[in-house]
Amino acid sequence: MSTALQRSVVLENGFARNFPELSIPWTAEEPPAPELLVLNERLARELGLDPEYLRSAEGISVLTGAHPPEGATPVAQGYAGHQFGSYSPRLGDGRALLLGELRDAEGNLRDLHLKGSGRTPFSRGGDGFGAVGPMLREYILSESLHALGIPTTLSLAVTATGHDVLRESRLPGAVLTRVASSHLRVGSFQYARALGDPDLLHRLAEVAMARHHPEAADAERPHLALFDAVVADQAALIAQWMLVGFVHGVMNSDNMTISGETIDYGPCAFIDAFDPAAVFSSIDGQGRYAYRNQPVMAEWNLARLAEAMLPLFDDDEDQAVELAMESLRTFRTRYSEAWSAGMFEKLGLPPATGVEREDQPAHDVVHATTELLTTSGADYTLFFRALAGVARGDREPARALFTDPAPFDAWAETWLALGPDATGMDLINPAYIPRNHLVEEALDAATDGDLGPLNRLLEAVSAPYEVRPGLERLAVGAPTDSGPYVTFCGT
Ligand code: AMP
Ligand code: MG
Repeated sequence: MSTALQRSVVLENGFARNFPELSIPWTAEEPPAPELLVLNERLARELGLDPEYLRSAEGISVLTGAHPPEGATPVAQGYAGHQFGSYSPRLGDGRALLLGELRDAEGNLRDLHLKGSGRTPFSRGGDGFGAVGPMLREYILSESLHALGIPTTLSLAVTATGHDVLRESRLPGAVLTRVASSHLRVGSFQYARALGDPDLLHRLAEVAMARHHPEAADAERPHLALFDAVVADQAALIAQWMLVGFVHGVMNSDNMTISGETIDYGPCAFIDAFDPAAVFSSIDGQGRYAYRNQPVMAEWNLARLAEAMLPLFDDDEDQAVELAMESLRTFRTRYSEAWSAGMFEKLGLPPATGVEREDQPAHDVVHATTELLTTSGADYTLFFRALAGVARGDREPARALFTDPAPFDAWAETWLALGPDATGMDLINPAYIPRNHLVEEALDAATDGDLGPLNRLLEAVSAPYEVRPGLERLAVGAPTDSGPYVTFCGT
């Protein structure tokens, strides 16, 4: 990196200045005994910040918001959202603050944000805090998705506060320092629309465009082009989640970004045994956000975004609806194409482009793969990781994943007949994912003061494709006695 790493943090306050309607200036609670649990040195450098500085007492006070950096106007952001299908007109940052925007080493504007920094005017009944476990869960999962090449907000640090939070029991509290290309959500547009101020909605779209889709400004209808770009980004994002077996868990419209980054890791998890109906959230009894429902739920949220943005598309409401629908209808095709292309890659088949999109035998194998996984409930990640071996003639490790190997053998014949190329498969099918039992083990140990398992897990998931000695335990499936896995929301 050419520029020297900074021993101070300088922030801009563009959001706070430009959107007083969506911002409440607020101060983070000062942690009584802050202790840095984990710092993302790679990300710190990317941001142009000196990791040693961030580890200092002054650095930690910036990371927790106790002493806002130069230029900062920390704000709680206002947003609305559909939660499990019902509309909440006023959600907002109930336990979070936007510290400000930072120019990274490449000149891009990134949000620096706190989660678990205390009550705000949006807290309703909540205490405004986060516990060590859930804050570290977001750190682990966001690092994993990032390493898998999936757009996501990033975690810069988790700092224990020295202050207990009351959940089912007393737990050590922590603040997560989060970095995002912005914190604009579908819910931000819903909130702006509900305020009934056309100028605000317009300004919000302009900022979203400038930060995420500057190319939309040249379109005939820039705000429609912005919406269309969000539809495209979300279709691609959800396809990537599905391809790695990630279940977000709370796809409420306030948890869907305009940037196309994954945000707000709550009761999220990777599937072990393949199960289209997999749900990991204790509060999702209906399975609204089950693994297989994620594309439909994303499309549903985008319809809410379209409703919020309608006045920006055309003065004539019927025309605006027509334009929005036309764009929204592309979601399914975009999603299916991205997912199929990803599956081809996972299976070592050449990309289906142009005429080859008609490549029926390959599409049939993709379909048969889903069926094989659904009926057998084989471990999703281990299955794909073992396939490169099968392509090279070593069938046993894959076979061993099936109680009854006969359907697998039949499937393998059809697949092998397509001549899969093993070379790229190990670069797309991860060996290490943050499996539930490993995450749980790491969080429990960290809550008890032992950061060893957390650091090993982070080491594994941050380079997920490269098998390394010493990490064997982290590359095997869930113990068979682990039972149904459930995480708890709002913790
Ligand atoms: P989430 O589903 O975690 O994104 O949160 C949904 C809403 O609940 C947001 O408005 C959060 O700010 C708020 N919230 C979640 N946990 C707390 C908490 N412990 N204290 C106050 N507000 C919270
Ligand atoms: Mg949220």
